[in-house]
Amino acid sequence: MKIADNVFLIPDVIANLYLIVDADGLTLVDAGLPRSQKKILGYVAGLGKSARDLRRIVLTHSDLDHVGALAALYKATGARTYASSIEAQAIAAGKASRPIKRSGFSLRRLILAALRPFMAARPFKVDQILTDGEVLPVLGGLRVIDTAGHSPGHISLFAPAVGVLFCGDSMVSTEQGLRGSRPELTWDHARAADAVKRQAALRPQIVCPGHGPVVMDASSKFPL
Ligand SMILES: [Zn+2]
Repeated sequence: MKIADNVFLIPDVIANLYLIVDADGLTLVDAGLPRSQKKILGYVAGLGKSARDLRRIVLTHSDLDHVGALAALYKATGARTYASSIEAQAIAAGKASRPIKRSGFSLRRLILAALRPFMAARPFKVDQILTDGEVLPVLGGLRVIDTAGHSPGHISLFAPAVGVLFCGDSMVSTEQGLRGSRPELTWDHARAADAVKRQAALRPQIVCPGHGPVVMDASSKFPL
């Protein structure tokens, strides 16, 4: 599904994955649950591109639904992989970057716990560490924004030229607009709130979250 010029949402994959098309190749933001690679590469083929055209995979953070197909995608494409230092360490260890609280009852949590042994991400060594303010040669300049809070090394990616922000799980969306990181999955609530403010200050036109619909005309839809 086309989001903006050269920006696509890959359908039917958890979490939301975004594919960016540049003259020198494709960039994928996040890598989905384990076994998502077929759908992702099928979508790439549908754009008339090949697996080898995928040049970069940028990870917002290390939660399983964002890195599950990373090793398989790397094998199929040879893409260069990017993450923050803290999240890269978690990915290398095949572990979460922070403890996930398990208080209270939730059917979703029970299902996830039951599935976990079948869904573990393989440990993977990311090629390149990203830091706040760095700019990747994607979409006319894709800036790394430190949005720690949901997880300790979470990053978002902002393309000022097209006004598109990829916010990972630093915010989620509903049809009504943006919300902060889900409380039960949040590592540091104060930093998560700060991450929302930092992103609102960028005044993006379009926000592409890890979960929920893409938010258009986004500047008035921040949870401030
Ligand atoms: Zn997450």
